[in-house]
Amino acid sequence: MKQHIFLASPHMSEEGYEQQYIKEAFDTNWIAPLGKNVTEFENELVSEVSAKSAVALSSGTAAIHMALKAVGVGQGDLVFCQSLTFSATANPIVYEKAKPVFIDSERDTWNMDPQALELAFAKYREAGKKPKAVIVVHLYGICAKIKEIREICDRQGVPLIEDAAESLGTICHGRHTGTFGDYGIVSFNGNKIITSSGGGMLLVNTKDAQERAKKVLYWATQAREPAPWYQHTEIGYNYRMSNIVAGIGRGQLKVLERRVQKKRYIFEYYRKHLGSLPGISFMPSPEGARCNCWLSVILLAEGCPAAPADIIRVLAEDDVESRPVWKPMHLQPVFADYDFVTTVEELRVWDEGTGADSSVSGQIFAHGVCLPSDSKMTDEDLRRVCTAVQGLWK
Ligand SMILES: *Cc1c(COP(=O)(O)O)cnc(C)c1O
Repeated sequence: MKQHIFLASPHMSEEGYEQQYIKEAFDTNWIAPLGKNVTEFENELVSEVSAKSAVALSSGTAAIHMALKAVGVGQGDLVFCQSLTFSATANPIVYEKAKPVFIDSERDTWNMDPQALELAFAKYREAGKKPKAVIVVHLYGICAKIKEIREICDRQGVPLIEDAAESLGTICHGRHTGTFGDYGIVSFNGNKIITSSGGGMLLVNTKDAQERAKKVLYWATQAREPAPWYQHTEIGYNYRMSNIVAGIGRGQLKVLERRVQKKRYIFEYYRKHLGSLPGISFMPSPEGARCNCWLSVILLAEGCPAAPADIIRVLAEDDVESRPVWKPMHLQPVFADYDFVTTVEELRVWDEGTGADSSVSGQIFAHGVCLPSDSKMTDEDLRRVCTAVQGLWK
């Protein structure tokens, strides 16, 4: 019997580190959203990526929410946000009743286009407006043009939030993603490169950011005032990470580098075995960066023997999971009322069925497929995927 192949699934350490940390939590009865694992997980991640400090939270989404609150995003404020991403990047903007302005991607990294970002600043400056924050994403682990974006944000005096949910282990210009922004966020959801079963971390990277983030722990633990009774002057959240979850995270952090190596191996395997098929191209590997290759993503040129839906279908028939590239936020019905800024002139509908358009992000969505990238895959599994895909070219 052939086994099901997952897109990306939890992969605990071969040594059983996670269970050791959980056992310690049980033995000491720290079965709560605080304890040694939480504190140590924060310290260990800070030292792994060289951030200034970190706060362990219940999810990556909660971390984005807290970063937005830290920079003071509130009702009616603008936030410039990468369009090509998972909805969790943008949802917290709306939790705060602020308005996202979605920014298109560029071809070199698939991430936020610095030129489109400049256009957005210019457009809103004319209306006398300035965003409260910019959110950039390192999609699939691909390093964004982070230096250019950081430089634009500095020049405009706007804080940068870096969504590194998919890119833990990616190194750009010698530094970990998540440490270029004023704040960075990481996710340990079940499908990410390492998982705590669910959880996230807010990374704080500058002195000023640290000052603004002073209240994050307070907000994340129900905004309780220091009084002998339960006193509240602000709305709080129950966002802290549990000590059991943190134990899994600590164990996983020990094997992060091993997982990155395997994900990169998977990407190289696909490149080697599928790279010569006419019409297939691979996600970019920007110079000066080491991608964690969280997912291996291909693009299928127009008129090539297979469309993304064909690849997904033949793989599903073989009990193999794959999926489309994220559908950009500016094409999502839930965000239809918000603005989108792109350098592409004369934006038009490309595909009525999916709603893809002629923007750069719309085209990556229209032509992209995420191939199975589970770190437990064997060479035999990889061969099975390649054989199924190659079959479409015969
Ligand atoms: C997974 C993900 C998140 C959210 O993280 P959770 O821990 O699932 O809340 C945010 N942004 C991106 C790009 C993601 O892939």
